[in-house]
Amino acid sequence: MTETPPICWIEVAVHTPAHSGVGHWLSYRSPTPLEPGQLVRVPLGRREVLGVVWRAGLPEPDLAPGAIKDIVGLLDGLAPLDAHWRQLMAFAAQYYQRSLGEMALSALPPQLHDLDSVQLARRLKKQAAPATVAQIQPGPDLSPQQAQALQQVETAPGPFLLFGNTGSGKTEVYLRAVQQVLEADPQAQALLMVPEINLTPQLEARVRERFGQTAVVAMHSGLTPAQRLQSWLAAHHGAARIVLGTRMAVLAPMPRLKLIVVDEEHDPSYKQQEGARYSARDLAIYRGQQCGAKVLLGSATPSLESWHHSRPAEEGGRYLRLHMPERIGAAALPVVRRVDMNHQPRRTVLSAPLVQALQARVQRGEQSMLLLNRRGYAPVLYCADCGWKSECRHCSAFRVFHKGDRTLRCHHCGATERVPRACPGCGNADIAPLGRGTEQLEEHLAELLAGIRRPDGQPVRIARIDADTTRLKGALESQLAQVHSGEVDILVGTQMIAKGHDFRRITLVAAVNPDSALFSSDFRAPERLFALLMQAAGRAGRDADQGGSEMLVQTFHPTHPLFEALKRHDYPAFAASELAERTAAGLPPMSHQALLRADARDQTVAQQFLNTARATLEAWLCEEPGGAAVLENVSLYPAVPMSLQKVADVERAQMLIESASRKDLHRLLSRLQDVLQTLRTNPAHKGLIRWLVDVDPQAI
Ligand code: ADP
Ligand code: ZN
Ligand code: ZN
Repeated sequence: MTETPPICWIEVAVHTPAHSGVGHWLSYRSPTPLEPGQLVRVPLGRREVLGVVWRAGLPEPDLAPGAIKDIVGLLDGLAPLDAHWRQLMAFAAQYYQRSLGEMALSALPPQLHDLDSVQLARRLKKQAAPATVAQIQPGPDLSPQQAQALQQVETAPGPFLLFGNTGSGKTEVYLRAVQQVLEADPQAQALLMVPEINLTPQLEARVRERFGQTAVVAMHSGLTPAQRLQSWLAAHHGAARIVLGTRMAVLAPMPRLKLIVVDEEHDPSYKQQEGARYSARDLAIYRGQQCGAKVLLGSATPSLESWHHSRPAEEGGRYLRLHMPERIGAAALPVVRRVDMNHQPRRTVLSAPLVQALQARVQRGEQSMLLLNRRGYAPVLYCADCGWKSECRHCSAFRVFHKGDRTLRCHHCGATERVPRACPGCGNADIAPLGRGTEQLEEHLAELLAGIRRPDGQPVRIARIDADTTRLKGALESQLAQVHSGEVDILVGTQMIAKGHDFRRITLVAAVNPDSALFSSDFRAPERLFALLMQAAGRAGRDADQGGSEMLVQTFHPTHPLFEALKRHDYPAFAASELAERTAAGLPPMSHQALLRADARDQTVAQQFLNTARATLEAWLCEEPGGAAVLENVSLYPAVPMSLQKVADVERAQMLIESASRKDLHRLLSRLQDVLQTLRTNPAHKGLIRWLVDVDPQAI
């Protein structure tokens, strides 16, 4: 009797290009039985790629003999990715309109794609057993409001929105919540997410100090590929009890996940801006529900979405709002003063009240922080004779003047050249900077305060932190360390300096020129500005014994409601007025949006593609049962050029899709890919480079 080999027919998710039109998974044959979630290497075209077994033990597909290839290898030694993880990938792929293979495979650490099973076995040997919780160090005694918040997290199901003032001790609540779940279950895992891990080495240090070195792994793009793989393996095999990471960490397999914390949940960095444009915050909510983990979102200025979701349950709220209004140690929030720039001489950069306030801080040996959301020396170079401006040849934007290295740099495509000696338009030697950035502010400040002395008789020390000064690895850390240790009197910077840092000696924070966000075409701009200013204000007066801390806001619109609310540190009032406007205009969170974007060499091609897609979609849906009703509830707007229309010689157009019904929006989106695939080969759309769908876009 001859034994037939136990052939196993499987379907495998592989990373197919988004536009290839290939289905979600491909069929293969395995000589040995496999199960879903295992990782295999499979032939794909002429390549050999990594894949995730999605379904196994299938009947032999009805295809020509030889049409189905054998897998090349199995990454054994790795536990299969569990059903929860696979379900998370399937949900995210469907929700964000990407292929399952792309979603699942891009969630795996890059190095895993290149390893064979022998190399993997070597990596796996380095893995430790799950860390025990015996090593947890005690934290400080909780304040009454911290204790109350924690108790709610312990007893209610959540999700929770921890609405806590800057300095109210949210981090301590996170750590205690982590401690609770780790102690309750010797294998439980917790996920702690932060918007930008490079800005929070303090948090990592604190977590490691509290829970022990081995219990924690970090997961973010700053790690080497080898480190990232080790972290991922530790999460997947449960050796890591705590994963501390940026948005990518929400996709890590954590089989015993019991708690997800999303710190600074309002931060736009939680939204991925390329490939699958997922929101890590929103996936955290889904994931928590799906695997039974509690979800704790935290912020001093919650996103209006989360704020709205945490309205009282009687009004339809789905999150439980936990409020911590007081700062630890009764440290006072800074007094907010608005400086009316209409009453300052024209072209004033730093108003007299601000200069006086800065001088006083320097003389008293206190620190100040100046916020200007524009790096470089000046946003434009300008010739007054012929009107020439430093436009980028490849983008619909100006190249920014950087004085330090005398370059003109485009912040969109990166094109860089030396500053011309004379105007390229007319030869005039007198081309001048227009507007100002952080580099110029730093220079200007040094001139203004040249005669001012510190208490020790030394001149003022000014430092600047922005994307330009922190290019080199470790630069940000060392610059922040200087601020913390008091080697800096005035810190100038972009939004980078406003987020999360626990500076102890700052008593003055100033927003130099915040007005443009009040009148932006992006409806989220005021929300962003308010959050930024509240965060910035939160950097001042963190020590109770520093009385007299201030925030100065230079504005031409001092009575604007946003600044009124800021003056009172009144996020709820700001949120209420914004939500009223959003309700009136039918904007998120009262409605749901998706953007369809097309890129082409030519703007007309891009727009035509979108408009044809819209017409086709409408025609298709009309033919389908229930389709007309869906169309009633969804608005498809005509294609328009994006506000930044051209980047690196590519013309961009977008089409907004909006609906009060998430279900109908998704029903429509589910037909979109088929429409786009059909249109793509149509010669009418020659010159189309790519399209992309952004669900719940963060910028319109
Ligand atoms: P938030 O994240 O809400 O801005 P933090 O967690 O940074 O606030 O806390 C502010 C400061 O208060 C930190 O220096 C922290 O160590 C300290 N702190 C937090 N909770 C307590 C507590 N219960 N007792 C003493 N100090 C605390
Ligand atoms: Zn000129
Ligand atoms: Zn450019």
